[in-house]
Amino acid sequence: MRDLKDLTRPNIWVLSPYSSARDEYSGHDGHVFLDANENPYNSPLNRYPDPLQRDVKPLIAKHKGVSENQIFLGNGSDEAIDLVYRCFTVPHQDNVVAIDPTYGMYKVCADINDVEYRPVSLNAHFQMSANKMLAACDQNTKVIWICSPNNPSGNLIDKVEIEKVLMSFDGIVVIDEAYSDFSRQRPFRLELNRYPHLIVLNTMSKAWGCAAIRMGMAFANEEIIKIFNKVKYPYNVNLLTQQKAKEILSSPYDVERWVSMLIEERDRLIRAFKLLPVCEKIYPTDANFFLAKMTDAKSIYNYLINKGIIVRNRSRIHLCDNCLRITIGTKGENTQLLAALRQYC
Ligand SMILES: *Cc1c(COP(=O)(O)O)cnc(C)c1O
Repeated sequence: MRDLKDLTRPNIWVLSPYSSARDEYSGHDGHVFLDANENPYNSPLNRYPDPLQRDVKPLIAKHKGVSENQIFLGNGSDEAIDLVYRCFTVPHQDNVVAIDPTYGMYKVCADINDVEYRPVSLNAHFQMSANKMLAACDQNTKVIWICSPNNPSGNLIDKVEIEKVLMSFDGIVVIDEAYSDFSRQRPFRLELNRYPHLIVLNTMSKAWGCAAIRMGMAFANEEIIKIFNKVKYPYNVNLLTQQKAKEILSSPYDVERWVSMLIEERDRLIRAFKLLPVCEKIYPTDANFFLAKMTDAKSIYNYLINKGIIVRNRSRIHLCDNCLRITIGTKGENTQLLAALRQYC
Protein backbone atom coordinates (compact mmCIF):
# COMPACT_ATOMS: atom_id res chain seq x y z
CA MET A 1 0.00 0.00 0.00
CA ARG A 2 1.46 3.37 -0.97
CA ASP A 3 1.24 6.31 1.44
CA LEU A 4 -1.60 8.73 0.83
CA LYS A 5 1.04 11.42 0.43
CA ASP A 6 2.65 9.46 -2.39
CA LEU A 7 -0.75 9.03 -4.12
CA THR A 8 -1.84 12.66 -3.82
CA ARG A 9 -0.87 15.28 -6.40
CA PRO A 10 2.07 17.16 -4.84
CA ASN A 11 0.46 20.62 -5.32
CA ILE A 12 -2.73 19.35 -3.64
CA TRP A 13 -0.87 17.76 -0.74
CA VAL A 14 0.71 21.14 0.14
CA LEU A 15 -2.33 23.26 -0.79
CA SER A 16 -3.61 25.73 1.78
CA PRO A 17 -7.31 25.90 1.05
CA TYR A 18 -9.48 29.01 0.80
CA SER A 19 -10.73 29.92 4.23
CA SER A 20 -14.28 31.26 4.09
CA ALA A 21 -16.05 33.36 6.71
CA ARG A 22 -18.13 30.28 7.59
CA ASP A 23 -14.98 28.20 8.06
CA GLU A 24 -13.46 30.71 10.44
CA TYR A 25 -16.60 31.02 12.51
CA SER A 26 -19.08 28.17 12.21
CA GLY A 27 -20.75 28.15 15.63
CA HIS A 28 -24.44 28.80 16.16
CA ASP A 29 -24.07 31.18 19.13
CA GLY A 30 -23.35 34.36 17.20
CA HIS A 31 -26.41 36.48 16.48
CA VAL A 32 -24.89 39.48 14.70
CA PHE A 33 -23.19 38.23 11.56
CA LEU A 34 -21.10 40.98 10.01
CA ASP A 35 -18.31 38.76 8.70
CA ALA A 36 -19.26 37.61 5.19
CA ASN A 37 -20.44 40.72 3.32
CA GLU A 38 -23.93 39.21 3.11
CA ASN A 39 -27.09 41.28 2.82
CA PRO A 40 -28.84 41.24 6.23
CA TYR A 41 -32.26 41.04 4.52
CA ASN A 42 -34.01 38.15 2.71
CA SER A 43 -33.44 35.44 5.33
CA PRO A 44 -32.61 32.58 5.06
CA LEU A 45 -31.32 32.84 1.49
CA ASN A 46 -29.08 35.80 2.34
CA ARG A 47 -26.64 33.60 4.29
CA TYR A 48 -23.88 31.43 2.86
CA PRO A 49 -24.59 27.75 3.52
CA ASP A 50 -22.48 25.55 5.79
CA PRO A 51 -19.45 24.53 3.67
CA LEU A 52 -19.27 21.15 5.45
CA GLN A 53 -23.03 20.43 5.57
CA ARG A 54 -22.86 19.57 9.27
CA ASP A 55 -26.64 19.30 9.70
CA VAL A 56 -26.94 16.75 6.87
CA LYS A 57 -24.01 14.45 7.64
CA PRO A 58 -25.32 12.95 10.91
CA LEU A 59 -28.46 11.79 9.08
CA ILE A 60 -26.41 10.29 6.26
CA ALA A 61 -24.03 8.64 8.73
CA LYS A 62 -26.94 6.96 10.48
CA HIS A 63 -28.56 5.67 7.28
CA LYS A 64 -25.40 4.59 5.58
CA GLY A 65 -23.61 3.06 8.58
CA VAL A 66 -20.48 5.19 8.22
CA SER A 67 -19.09 7.87 10.50
CA GLU A 68 -19.55 11.60 9.86
CA ASN A 69 -15.88 12.17 9.17
CA GLN A 70 -15.98 9.49 6.44
CA ILE A 71 -18.49 11.53 4.38
CA PHE A 72 -17.92 14.00 1.54
CA LEU A 73 -20.99 15.67 -0.01
CA GLY A 74 -20.89 17.17 -3.47
CA ASN A 75 -22.87 18.58 -6.38
CA GLY A 76 -23.87 15.09 -7.57
CA SER A 77 -21.50 12.11 -7.63
CA ASP A 78 -20.07 13.78 -10.68
CA GLU A 79 -18.29 16.28 -8.43
CA ALA A 80 -16.68 13.45 -6.45
CA ILE A 81 -15.62 11.73 -9.69
CA ASP A 82 -13.91 14.91 -10.89
CA LEU A 83 -12.28 15.45 -7.47
CA VAL A 84 -10.72 11.99 -7.60
CA TYR A 85 -8.82 13.12 -10.71
CA ARG A 86 -7.96 16.56 -9.39
CA CYS A 87 -6.68 15.23 -6.06
CA PHE A 88 -4.85 12.06 -7.09
CA THR A 89 -3.68 12.28 -10.70
CA VAL A 90 -1.02 14.34 -12.42
CA PRO A 91 -2.03 15.17 -16.03
CA HIS A 92 0.20 13.65 -18.76
CA GLN A 93 1.90 11.44 -16.19
CA ASP A 94 -0.54 9.29 -14.22
CA ASN A 95 -3.20 6.93 -15.52
CA VAL A 96 -6.37 5.25 -14.27
CA VAL A 97 -7.78 1.78 -15.02
CA ALA A 98 -11.53 1.13 -15.34
CA ILE A 99 -13.91 -1.70 -16.19
CA ASP A 100 -15.40 -1.46 -19.68
CA PRO A 101 -18.26 -0.88 -20.33
CA THR A 102 -19.23 1.35 -17.42
CA TYR A 103 -20.56 4.79 -16.47
CA GLY A 104 -19.32 7.38 -19.00
CA MET A 105 -18.30 10.11 -16.56
CA TYR A 106 -15.11 8.33 -15.44
CA LYS A 107 -13.72 8.68 -18.96
CA VAL A 108 -15.07 12.20 -19.58
CA CYS A 109 -13.44 13.47 -16.37
CA ALA A 110 -10.17 11.72 -17.33
CA ASP A 111 -10.27 13.52 -20.68
CA ILE A 112 -11.09 16.88 -19.07
CA ASN A 113 -8.20 16.46 -16.66
CA ASP A 114 -5.90 15.17 -19.42
CA VAL A 115 -5.24 11.90 -17.64
CA GLU A 116 -4.75 8.60 -19.49
CA TYR A 117 -7.79 6.29 -19.17
CA ARG A 118 -7.24 2.54 -19.56
CA PRO A 119 -10.46 0.59 -20.15
CA VAL A 120 -10.29 -3.15 -19.40
CA SER A 121 -12.98 -5.25 -21.03
CA LEU A 122 -15.43 -7.18 -18.89
CA ASN A 123 -16.25 -10.69 -20.14
CA ALA A 124 -19.41 -11.62 -22.09
CA HIS A 125 -21.31 -11.85 -18.78
CA PHE A 126 -20.13 -8.33 -17.87
CA GLN A 127 -17.87 -9.76 -15.15
CA MET A 128 -14.49 -8.35 -14.14
CA SER A 129 -11.25 -10.29 -13.93
CA ALA A 130 -9.10 -8.85 -11.13
CA ASN A 131 -5.98 -10.23 -12.79
CA LYS A 132 -6.78 -8.44 -16.05
CA MET A 133 -7.34 -5.16 -14.17
CA LEU A 134 -4.06 -5.53 -12.27
CA ALA A 135 -2.20 -6.44 -15.46
CA ALA A 136 -3.31 -3.10 -16.99
CA CYS A 137 -1.71 -1.16 -14.12
CA ASP A 138 1.84 0.18 -13.98
CA GLN A 139 3.74 2.37 -11.52
CA ASN A 140 1.79 5.44 -12.73
CA THR A 141 -1.66 3.94 -12.13
CA LYS A 142 -3.23 5.94 -9.33
CA VAL A 143 -6.89 4.90 -9.47
CA ILE A 144 -9.01 1.84 -10.38
CA TRP A 145 -12.68 2.50 -11.21
CA ILE A 146 -15.29 -0.18 -10.50
CA CYS A 147 -19.06 0.31 -10.66
CA SER A 148 -21.29 -2.27 -8.93
CA PRO A 149 -24.14 -2.72 -9.74
CA ASN A 150 -22.65 -1.63 -13.04
CA ASN A 151 -24.17 0.83 -15.52
CA PRO A 152 -25.20 0.06 -18.32
CA SER A 153 -25.22 -3.71 -17.66
CA GLY A 154 -27.04 -3.62 -14.29
CA ASN A 155 -25.21 -6.58 -12.73
CA LEU A 156 -23.20 -6.74 -9.52
CA ILE A 157 -19.50 -7.22 -10.10
CA ASP A 158 -18.23 -10.43 -8.45
CA LYS A 159 -17.37 -9.61 -4.85
CA VAL A 160 -14.39 -11.97 -4.75
CA GLU A 161 -12.81 -10.25 -7.77
CA ILE A 162 -13.38 -6.80 -6.22
CA GLU A 163 -11.76 -7.96 -2.99
CA LYS A 164 -8.79 -9.25 -4.96
CA VAL A 165 -8.34 -5.78 -6.50
CA LEU A 166 -8.67 -4.15 -3.07
CA MET A 167 -6.05 -6.50 -1.58
CA SER A 168 -3.55 -6.33 -4.46
CA PHE A 169 -3.66 -2.78 -5.85
CA ASP A 170 -1.54 -0.22 -4.00
CA GLY A 171 -3.44 2.92 -5.14
CA ILE A 172 -6.96 4.32 -4.82
CA VAL A 173 -9.92 2.01 -5.61
CA VAL A 174 -13.25 3.71 -6.32
CA ILE A 175 -16.41 1.58 -6.16
CA ASP A 176 -19.46 3.42 -7.46
CA GLU A 177 -22.48 2.04 -5.60
CA ALA A 178 -25.05 4.45 -7.09
CA TYR A 179 -27.49 1.53 -7.40
CA SER A 180 -26.70 -0.43 -4.22
CA ASP A 181 -30.10 0.46 -2.70
CA PHE A 182 -31.66 -1.89 -5.26
CA SER A 183 -29.42 -4.81 -4.34
CA ARG A 184 -29.42 -7.13 -1.33
CA GLN A 185 -25.67 -7.63 -1.36
CA ARG A 186 -23.73 -6.06 1.51
CA PRO A 187 -22.37 -2.77 0.15
CA PHE A 188 -18.63 -2.06 0.15
CA ARG A 189 -19.13 1.22 2.01
CA LEU A 190 -19.45 -0.93 5.16
CA GLU A 191 -15.88 -2.20 4.59
CA LEU A 192 -14.23 1.25 4.70
CA ASN A 193 -12.34 0.47 7.89
CA ARG A 194 -10.67 -2.54 6.24
CA TYR A 195 -9.47 -0.67 3.14
CA PRO A 196 -7.82 2.73 3.78
CA HIS A 197 -7.63 3.59 0.06
CA LEU A 198 -11.22 2.68 -0.82
CA ILE A 199 -13.62 5.41 -1.97
CA VAL A 200 -17.31 4.45 -2.31
CA LEU A 201 -19.71 6.68 -4.26
CA ASN A 202 -23.44 7.01 -3.53
CA THR A 203 -26.05 9.46 -4.81
CA MET A 204 -29.44 10.94 -3.97
CA SER A 205 -30.31 10.76 -7.69
CA LYS A 206 -31.58 7.18 -7.98
CA ALA A 207 -33.35 5.28 -5.16
CA TRP A 208 -33.74 8.49 -3.14
CA GLY A 209 -35.71 10.15 -5.95
CA CYS A 210 -33.80 13.45 -5.78
CA ALA A 211 -31.87 13.79 -9.06
CA ALA A 212 -32.96 17.44 -9.26
CA ILE A 213 -31.29 18.59 -6.05
CA ARG A 214 -27.81 17.37 -7.11
CA MET A 215 -26.37 15.66 -4.09
CA GLY A 216 -23.74 12.97 -4.33
CA MET A 217 -21.69 11.33 -1.62
CA ALA A 218 -18.24 9.88 -1.34
CA PHE A 219 -17.40 7.67 1.63
CA ALA A 220 -13.76 7.11 2.49
CA ASN A 221 -11.24 7.22 5.27
CA GLU A 222 -11.05 10.57 7.02
CA GLU A 223 -7.69 11.51 5.47
CA ILE A 224 -9.11 11.20 1.94
CA ILE A 225 -12.22 13.19 2.91
CA LYS A 226 -9.97 15.98 4.23
CA ILE A 227 -8.23 16.19 0.86
CA PHE A 228 -11.58 16.40 -0.99
CA ASN A 229 -12.77 19.14 1.38
CA LYS A 230 -9.63 21.13 0.74
CA VAL A 231 -10.07 21.07 -3.06
CA LYS A 232 -13.86 21.41 -3.48
CA TYR A 233 -15.54 24.78 -4.05
CA PRO A 234 -16.16 26.29 -0.59
CA TYR A 235 -19.97 26.33 -0.91
CA ASN A 236 -20.42 23.36 -3.26
CA VAL A 237 -23.79 22.22 -1.83
CA ASN A 238 -26.37 25.01 -1.68
CA LEU A 239 -28.80 25.66 1.17
CA LEU A 240 -31.92 24.48 -0.69
CA THR A 241 -30.23 21.18 -1.49
CA GLN A 242 -29.11 20.71 2.11
CA GLN A 243 -32.66 21.40 3.33
CA LYS A 244 -34.29 19.00 0.86
CA ALA A 245 -31.71 16.31 1.63
CA LYS A 246 -32.51 16.58 5.35
CA GLU A 247 -36.23 16.25 4.56
CA ILE A 248 -35.86 13.12 2.47
CA LEU A 249 -33.40 11.56 4.93
CA SER A 250 -36.00 12.09 7.64
CA SER A 251 -38.59 10.03 5.74
CA PRO A 252 -36.60 6.97 4.59
CA TYR A 253 -39.75 4.86 4.59
CA ASP A 254 -40.81 6.48 1.31
CA VAL A 255 -37.53 5.37 -0.18
CA GLU A 256 -37.92 1.80 1.08
CA ARG A 257 -41.41 1.65 -0.40
CA TRP A 258 -40.22 3.03 -3.76
CA VAL A 259 -37.38 0.54 -3.90
CA SER A 260 -39.58 -2.47 -3.22
CA MET A 261 -42.19 -1.31 -5.78
CA LEU A 262 -39.47 -0.77 -8.38
CA ILE A 263 -37.91 -4.19 -7.76
CA GLU A 264 -41.33 -5.83 -8.10
CA GLU A 265 -41.98 -3.94 -11.35
CA ARG A 266 -38.49 -4.79 -12.62
CA ASP A 267 -39.21 -8.49 -12.17
CA ARG A 268 -42.57 -8.15 -13.91
CA LEU A 269 -41.07 -6.22 -16.86
CA ILE A 270 -38.25 -8.72 -17.27
CA ARG A 271 -40.65 -11.68 -17.29
CA ALA A 272 -42.74 -9.92 -19.94
CA PHE A 273 -39.68 -8.92 -22.03
CA LYS A 274 -38.52 -12.54 -22.16
CA LEU A 275 -41.75 -13.41 -23.99
CA LEU A 276 -41.39 -10.65 -26.60
CA PRO A 277 -40.34 -11.87 -30.06
CA VAL A 278 -38.16 -8.70 -30.43
CA CYS A 279 -36.18 -9.46 -27.26
CA GLU A 280 -33.26 -11.87 -27.56
CA LYS A 281 -31.78 -11.68 -24.09
CA ILE A 282 -32.07 -9.93 -20.75
CA TYR A 283 -28.92 -9.48 -18.70
CA PRO A 284 -29.03 -10.05 -14.92
CA THR A 285 -29.64 -6.84 -12.96
CA ASP A 286 -29.44 -5.58 -9.38
CA ALA A 287 -30.37 -2.00 -10.34
CA ASN A 288 -33.52 -0.01 -11.25
CA PHE A 289 -32.91 -0.72 -14.94
CA PHE A 290 -32.02 -3.65 -17.15
CA LEU A 291 -30.14 -4.18 -20.37
CA ALA A 292 -32.02 -6.03 -23.13
CA LYS A 293 -30.52 -7.42 -26.30
CA MET A 294 -33.03 -6.85 -29.09
CA THR A 295 -33.43 -8.07 -32.65
CA ASP A 296 -32.93 -4.51 -33.96
CA ALA A 297 -32.26 -1.98 -31.20
CA LYS A 298 -32.08 1.09 -33.44
CA SER A 299 -35.44 0.65 -35.15
CA ILE A 300 -37.17 -0.40 -31.92
CA TYR A 301 -35.69 2.66 -30.22
CA ASN A 302 -37.04 4.94 -32.97
CA TYR A 303 -40.40 3.19 -32.97
CA LEU A 304 -40.72 3.81 -29.21
CA ILE A 305 -39.76 7.48 -29.62
CA ASN A 306 -42.62 7.85 -32.10
CA LYS A 307 -44.93 6.56 -29.38
CA GLY A 308 -43.49 9.09 -26.92
CA ILE A 309 -41.56 6.45 -24.95
CA ILE A 310 -37.87 7.15 -24.47
CA VAL A 311 -35.40 4.40 -23.55
CA ARG A 312 -31.61 4.47 -23.87
CA ASN A 313 -30.00 2.98 -26.96
CA ARG A 314 -26.66 1.49 -25.82
CA SER A 315 -25.92 -0.31 -29.13
CA ARG A 316 -22.68 1.49 -29.78
CA ILE A 317 -21.21 0.73 -26.34
CA HIS A 318 -18.57 -2.03 -26.01
CA LEU A 319 -20.26 -5.48 -25.53
CA CYS A 320 -23.74 -3.91 -25.86
CA ASP A 321 -24.44 -4.58 -29.52
CA ASN A 322 -28.20 -4.21 -30.21
CA CYS A 323 -28.91 -3.41 -26.56
CA LEU A 324 -31.46 -1.05 -25.07
CA ARG A 325 -31.24 0.07 -21.45
CA ILE A 326 -34.67 0.26 -19.86
CA THR A 327 -35.27 2.25 -16.66
CA ILE A 328 -38.09 0.91 -14.47
CA GLY A 329 -40.95 3.43 -14.37
CA THR A 330 -44.33 3.42 -12.64
CA LYS A 331 -46.60 0.44 -13.20
CA GLY A 332 -48.58 2.48 -15.75
CA GLU A 333 -45.48 3.58 -17.65
CA ASN A 334 -44.10 0.05 -17.78
CA THR A 335 -47.44 -1.23 -19.05
CA GLN A 336 -47.39 1.37 -21.85
CA LEU A 337 -43.91 0.24 -22.84
CA LEU A 338 -44.98 -3.41 -22.98
CA ALA A 339 -48.13 -2.59 -24.96
CA ALA A 340 -46.08 -0.66 -27.52
CA LEU A 341 -43.52 -3.46 -27.90
CA ARG A 342 -46.25 -6.09 -28.33
CA GLN A 343 -47.57 -4.07 -31.27
CA TYR A 344 -44.16 -3.74 -32.91
CA CYS A 345 -43.66 -5.75 -36.06
C1 LIG B 1 -26.69 7.89 -12.23
C2 LIG B 1 -25.31 7.54 -11.79
C3 LIG B 1 -24.62 8.35 -10.90
C4 LIG B 1 -25.27 9.59 -10.34
O1 LIG B 1 -24.63 10.74 -10.63
P1 LIG B 1 -25.15 12.08 -9.91
O2 LIG B 1 -24.16 13.06 -10.39
O3 LIG B 1 -25.06 11.84 -8.43
O4 LIG B 1 -26.55 12.32 -10.34
C5 LIG B 1 -23.36 7.97 -10.49
N1 LIG B 1 -22.81 6.83 -10.92
C6 LIG B 1 -23.46 6.01 -11.77
C7 LIG B 1 -22.83 4.73 -12.18
C8 LIG B 1 -24.72 6.35 -12.24
O5 LIG B 1 -25.35 5.54 -13.10
